[in-house]
Amino acid sequence: MSIAPDPTHDPRLRSWVASANVPGCDFPIQNLPFGVFRRAGGGESFRCGIAIGDCVLDLGALDMLGPFEGLGAEALAACAEPSLNRLMALGRQSWAALRRGVSACLREGAPRAAELGTALIRRSEAEFTLPARIGNYTDFYASIHHATAVGRLFRPDQPLLPNYKWVPIAYHGRASSIVVSGQEVRRPRGQILPRGAERPQLAPSARLDFELEVGVLIGTGNSLGCPVPIAEAEKHVFGLCLLNDWSARDLQAWEYQPLGPFLAKSFATTISPWVVTLEALAPYRLPWSRPPEDPQPLPYLDGAQLRAGGAIDLHLEVALETQAMRAARAAPQPLARTNFRHSYWSVAQMVAHHTVNGCNLETGDLLGSGTQSGPEPEEAGSLLELTQGGQRAIRLASGEARTFVEDGDRVILRGWCERPGCARIGFGEASGTVLASI
Ligand code: CA
Repeated sequence: MSIAPDPTHDPRLRSWVASANVPGCDFPIQNLPFGVFRRAGGGESFRCGIAIGDCVLDLGALDMLGPFEGLGAEALAACAEPSLNRLMALGRQSWAALRRGVSACLREGAPRAAELGTALIRRSEAEFTLPARIGNYTDFYASIHHATAVGRLFRPDQPLLPNYKWVPIAYHGRASSIVVSGQEVRRPRGQILPRGAERPQLAPSARLDFELEVGVLIGTGNSLGCPVPIAEAEKHVFGLCLLNDWSARDLQAWEYQPLGPFLAKSFATTISPWVVTLEALAPYRLPWSRPPEDPQPLPYLDGAQLRAGGAIDLHLEVALETQAMRAARAAPQPLARTNFRHSYWSVAQMVAHHTVNGCNLETGDLLGSGTQSGPEPEEAGSLLELTQGGQRAIRLASGEARTFVEDGDRVILRGWCERPGCARIGFGEASGTVLASI
């Protein structure tokens, strides 16, 4: 089931919230991403909201005004909670009804604009928590450019393992250490085998890295034992966010064989507060294809909808702000840009593969796409690739250099969609500042 663009995507739509109409704004009326917020410092309860311009529409307060009927009203009533889970469990028709209703409320000329204005608070006065209660987190490895570049560093003789082009590779990640953008991340300690040494030592990671990823939040789950066919897969997806899978490369190199990453990854994962729905992403879909010289996917990972519009034209960027840059009030420096369209495996393929053995996904589960790197070396989504395993430092405009992330550095992920004839919509950011190890 693919989602056709509808009047909520019309690029001519304008909002009575003036900041939403400013060119380049991440949150115009065509976007309407969901998050969980409260007024900062007041001890209020967290509740669901929608970003519009430089404001948050308080969905709990909107519900008190009783603006909708039917499915839209039911969906809005699910939003007075401290997570999106209740809304996400309702399903695509409810999400679409709520989107249509909120779009009508925020449009220029909406009859109750003055009254609805009481349900807005400035984003700068809000604080955020995780958008969902995340029960399970699975991280994929869906970029072949990343898999090849990293494989070359770890295994020069066989960069890409023979299963890569057949299996959407993933491992089960740690849900308890997922944090929302803005929270600090402590440098992990772990076992490290120094070069040439025979015994490992316990030490703070000296090779701390980021991974530029897309997060996929599951809306409706599937029953245990009942795989989700690929044609149904996107029906189960509520939306996408930005995800930084912080990685300690020295811990990883020593521990990853034979069962894959563990403590090198489980200390922190940062996600953006805003979830951009698949409805909002409808105008930015692209055909999905596989190079003709590569094996075509097995039938359970292939289909007409995937071929017609399984990819997403989502621009991704990672930027760095050092302590010195912050002190000098210099803007964060972009390190790399890429696009989710290059992903070897799509969102629908991840869902179909995850459930093909009967595994049940649940409302609020999070899938990571794996580091997204493009075909060119400068489009890499990790420092491991950008510095060739730490051998080639990146020179920053501040005069500093980096091979890996240092204490006090803030890593910022950004994402946005734009194409001719459509509005530009953004994901905001997922950022985290690194603290020294204990
Ligand atoms: Ca990862």
